[in-house]
Amino acid sequence: MSIRTRFSLQDTEIPTLWYNLNADLPEPVPPPLHPGTKQPLTPDALAPVFPMNLIMQEASTERWIEIPEPVREIYALWRPTPVFRAVRFEQALQTPAHIYYKYEGASPAGSHKPNTAVAQAYYNKVAGTKRICTETGAGQWGSSLAFACRLFGLECTVYMVKVSFHQKPYRKLLMQTWGATVYSSPSENTEYGRKVLAEDPDCPGSLGIAISEAIQDAVTSGNAKYSLGSVLNHVCLHQTVVGQECIKQMELAGEEPDVIVGCVGGGSNFAGLAFPFVRRKITEKKHYKILAVEPTSCPTLTKGDLRYDFGDTAEMTPLLMMYTLGHKFMPPRIHAGGLRYHGMAPMVSHIKKLGLIDAVAYPQTKVFEAAVAFARSEGLVVAPETAHAIAAVIDEAVKCREEGRKRVILFNLSGHGQLDLAAYDTYLSGNMQDV
Ligand SMILES: *Cc1c(COP(=O)(O)O)cnc(C)c1O
Repeated sequence: MSIRTRFSLQDTEIPTLWYNLNADLPEPVPPPLHPGTKQPLTPDALAPVFPMNLIMQEASTERWIEIPEPVREIYALWRPTPVFRAVRFEQALQTPAHIYYKYEGASPAGSHKPNTAVAQAYYNKVAGTKRICTETGAGQWGSSLAFACRLFGLECTVYMVKVSFHQKPYRKLLMQTWGATVYSSPSENTEYGRKVLAEDPDCPGSLGIAISEAIQDAVTSGNAKYSLGSVLNHVCLHQTVVGQECIKQMELAGEEPDVIVGCVGGGSNFAGLAFPFVRRKITEKKHYKILAVEPTSCPTLTKGDLRYDFGDTAEMTPLLMMYTLGHKFMPPRIHAGGLRYHGMAPMVSHIKKLGLIDAVAYPQTKVFEAAVAFARSEGLVVAPETAHAIAAVIDEAVKCREEGRKRVILFNLSGHGQLDLAAYDTYLSGNMQDV
């Protein structure tokens, strides 16, 4: 082979620390507020919902946080993940750019989400939690948490949005295979679910309703806690194994990225790749262009306001300072279910405000066009969420061609799309529309 395309690390090179960007920010992220008093939240206010070890991590400003050995042992099932250079994709685009991607689809659940699911299950286990409750849309988060809970011997209860429960059975079956109990939300299992069903027996459900059900289940039963798969500081923290590995792998490749790209729903996979590079931007004055990519139908960073807002529809969560479309915003049913969230991680929102990152939005037909082009040159069929990043990579690569200059582009391939082929069917049969 004339060009090296795969950059793998040794098993012993799984990171031993998570990186906390809060330690290096020029100004701190505004704190979460109590929804009633509007005062900064105290740790004990969150204690019914999360275990104290994760609450302390959420508020931490320590730069490096040790990854517990049992978490690293499970990471070793798929980490370190490879970085590839997409040479055939470069050729198809006729670009002088070099395009690299970090392959997070290699995890058992098929995405980056187990990086935090495993950590959260571990911290719950050592805190004495017996059961974790969560919500899931299309099922990526629910399946990741089901997998993680099983490996630590915890029970897992998932409230899955009703439309997905019926229309997307495969991730539900993954969750059940890993031993989770899955309810179609709104369900008869919680007071809130029963209330919603009494008002509208045919309610299709929403992420907001499912979050409210999962929180209510957790706080009303002993030994149960709630878990969130994106948005929060500790989730972004756990994902930083991705960017740390990438820094070493780009050294192996002998290149430094000029452009760093990730898709954003709640912001966690983007944070995981970007934060270790943002650190270098702050401390070493590097000139990376760091690009967050979202759907035009849910344009949180590109069209939202930066203000305090609730994380859920039922107004049960603390107020978070973030870019938001409003907690009552109902995003259209696009195929990238994981990007349909009204808010954005406070840490990602904050570095956008500080000008450390840029954001761009794409409509879904352009996104699937990019996904198909990538599959036809690199082979990998990516998740619809990931395809947003690829749409932006294509535009950056085409710019390089037009300007006749080589740049190095790195993106996070946050997950594979083998359980999302129905969305590809919609695109390939010409039935996909932009909303
Ligand atoms: C959930 C998901 C996303 C979006 O979530 P973030 O927290 O923004 O990363 C992106 N890609 C894949 C494959 C996902 O499963």
